[in-house]
Amino acid sequence: MSFLEQTQRFIKECVEELGVEPEIYEFLKEPRKTVIVNIPVRMDDGKIKTFIGYRVQHNNALGPYKGGIRFHPDVNLDEVKALATLMTLKTAIIDGVPFGGGKGGVAVDPGQLSKGELQRLSRGYMRAIAWFISPKKDIPAPDVGTNPQIMAWMADEYSYIRRQAEHEVITGKPIEIGGSKGRTQATSRGCMFVAQKACEKAGLNFVGSKVVVQGFGNVGGNAALLFEEAGAKVIAVSDVFGAIFNEDGLDVKELMEYTKEHGTIAKYPKAQIINSNELLELKCDILVPAALENQITKENAPRVKCKILVEGANGPTTSEADEILVKKGVIICPDVLANAGGVVVSYLEWVQGNYHFQWKEETVNAELKEKMENAFDRIYEFAQEKNMPMRRAAFMVGIKRLADVMRIRGWV
Ligand code: GLU
Repeated sequence: MSFLEQTQRFIKECVEELGVEPEIYEFLKEPRKTVIVNIPVRMDDGKIKTFIGYRVQHNNALGPYKGGIRFHPDVNLDEVKALATLMTLKTAIIDGVPFGGGKGGVAVDPGQLSKGELQRLSRGYMRAIAWFISPKKDIPAPDVGTNPQIMAWMADEYSYIRRQAEHEVITGKPIEIGGSKGRTQATSRGCMFVAQKACEKAGLNFVGSKVVVQGFGNVGGNAALLFEEAGAKVIAVSDVFGAIFNEDGLDVKELMEYTKEHGTIAKYPKAQIINSNELLELKCDILVPAALENQITKENAPRVKCKILVEGANGPTTSEADEILVKKGVIICPDVLANAGGVVVSYLEWVQGNYHFQWKEETVNAELKEKMENAFDRIYEFAQEKNMPMRRAAFMVGIKRLADVMRIRGWV
């Protein structure tokens, strides 16, 4: 079953178990609207290369469509649809984030492009989808392979097309052009709040806990850093080039400096090089998969030894693996909860943008903490009450809210 099929099937099961109108599933199984665009880009060698891009608007019952833009060679329509669906659930489980779910992407390896080519592709993508989005309709943000600089080019192109300043069409921008303080680390900080809560429930001390992080991009790298700053011990990390391990704990700050210089963690001297597949199977307290989907599968799940799983990435655990981990007693903090910090602070950025106002970082972080902890508590309590794993509880809490709103709006 594909990532999309797994997501759809899970929603169907939850709709049935909740006992809400079966039509709710009809609204959630497929996105409301999708555009597929071809983006011709003038490459540095003078030739034109055409890239394929997508924007999927999944559901807007709760507010404008919201979700990131992924630049990755494997991006395809079904993946973007699955990710858009998860965004609908993600925004639904956090109180006070009035957004629906969407997602976009371009099939490209951004690492292969020059800065100029990347800017032309980013602007080309925005030109192709600008008619489809707006600050009150659909608000993109960064995702795997995109960053604040790319958001800046896109915001600039959008404002140029609209002939007026409308940077609030996109979040995750640099602070200089209306980004929010705290946005870059928001997803990772959210993961940390969730991990701390999960430790509390498991009777485990977060301070001194052993942490393994898969992925050293914006989410994984900052998660490692924030977990370390909060007293946990990061014993292993990986990126696309390799994985490293140090039983006594890595110096994440130093590792980040090293990565800036060398472009990868893979040959960091103060650690042992391990096989990337082994990383997920290391004995640890908290495992944070923060790379891509389908990483923990039925093949490696039996060997996964963490106590708590905090899904920094979207869809890192297949449904078969999920069942195996649940049976093993792993506390799973699912993606729609664990990595919701990014969209929470995106919402705060959007509010600040609409009011042309900037909050202090402490204000943003405090708001993020409150929202993440409330969502955790609500889902944890639901899970306890119904005696079910947190992923199912999260989906049910989200679907129930969506169903209530769709009913009030007269959709069902
Ligand atoms: N791409 C991020 C996610 O998957 C952030 C989305 C946003 O901020 O809109 O949650």
